[in-house]
Amino acid sequence: MAAHEPAAGAPDLAELTRRAAAAAVPEREDGLVVCENLVRIYRTEGVEVQALQGLDLAVAEGEMVAVIGASGSGKSTLLGILSGQDVPTAGSAEVAGHDLLAMKRRARLAYRRSTVGFVWQQTGRNLLPYLTAAENVMLPMSYVGAKRARRRTRAEELLGLLGVGHVADRTPDAMSGGEQQRVAIAVANANEPRVLLADEPTGELDTATSDDIFAALRRANEELGVTVVVVTHDALVSEQVQRTVRIRDGRTSTEVLRRVATGADGVQALTSEEYAVLDRNGRLQIPREFTERLHLRRRVRLALETDHVGVWPDDAARRAKARQAAAGGTGPEPE
Ligand code: ADP
Ligand code: MG
Repeated sequence: MAAHEPAAGAPDLAELTRRAAAAAVPEREDGLVVCENLVRIYRTEGVEVQALQGLDLAVAEGEMVAVIGASGSGKSTLLGILSGQDVPTAGSAEVAGHDLLAMKRRARLAYRRSTVGFVWQQTGRNLLPYLTAAENVMLPMSYVGAKRARRRTRAEELLGLLGVGHVADRTPDAMSGGEQQRVAIAVANANEPRVLLADEPTGELDTATSDDIFAALRRANEELGVTVVVVTHDALVSEQVQRTVRIRDGRTSTEVLRRVATGADGVQALTSEEYAVLDRNGRLQIPREFTERLHLRRRVRLALETDHVGVWPDDAARRAKARQAAAGGTGPEPE
C-alpha cells in the first residue's frame, strides 16, 4: 500500500477536500431578521460607547421573540437599527432581504413605511393627540397611497382584532394607557409590515395591562402573520412568548425556548430549555450563574463527546483552590 493512501475506513482525499470546501463557505443564517456580529459605537465629545459589541440574532418569519436585558445593554440600539432609524458601525443586519448597512435614503424611507412597524414605550409618542384612534391607524396608509374607503375598513378591522374597536372615534386623551398601546399596535400594522418592532411597549403600564399588550402582540403575530420582536427589561415576559433572547453587554448571550413536550406517560407539559448563541467563529458565552457555580474562569477543560461538548473547570485552578482551602487560607484567589 502506498504511503499516501488512506487507512481503511478513513475518509479519502476527495471526501476531506469536499468537507474543507463546505467548511470554508460561511453558512448563511436564514431568517427574516438576521444580525451577525453587529457593532454600534456611539462617539460623543471624544468618548466612545460600544452599545452593541458583536451581536448575533436570527428571527424566523412568523416568530415572536422577546429580547430581554438590563437597562443599557443595547436593546433600544438594536431596535433603532432594525427599524432603519440608525445605522450600525459594523457587522451585518438584514431584514426581509434589505441590507440595513447599504440601504440608501429613499429606500430607507420606504422600508420604514412598509417593511417594519414600530411601537415605542412612551404611550404619548405612538399616537397623534389630535386624531382619533381610527384616524391614527389610517394615517400611515395615506403615505403609501391607499384609497380612503380601504383605509377606513382596514383601520376598523385592526382595532377590532386588537380589542380596541370601541375607542375608534376617541382621541388618545380619552383612552387608558393600555388602550393607547393597543391602538399603537394597530397603527404599526397599518401598512402590513413584515416585522413589528416594539421597544418596551409595556414599560409604563401595570402587570395586568402589560399582559393585555402581550396578548395583543401575540394576536397580531398569529392573525396577521407579522413577525414580532419585542424588547423588555422584564424577565417575566418569557412566560408570554416561545423564545426569549437575552442581551448582555451588547451581545446576545442566552436564549430560552418554551415548547409543549409529550412525556413518556403521554402527558403534555410546557418545558423551557436554555440555549446559548454560538457565533460563526465558534464563540460561546456561558451564563454567569454557570461560571460562578463551577468556578469556571479564564481557562476551562474542553472535551468532544459523541453527542455533546463537556466543559470542566481548569484542573490547575481547582487544585490551587483545594490547597488553599486545606491550608484554611482565605487569601487572594489563585489566578
Ligand atoms: P437599553 O435600551 O438596553 O437600555 P440602549 O441601547 O439605550 O440600551 O443603550 C446602550 C448603551 O449605549 C448605553 O450605554 C447608552 O448609554 C448608550 N447610548 C445609547 N444611545 C446613545 C447615544 N445616542 N449617544 C451615546 N450613547 C448612547
Ligand atoms: Mg431602551
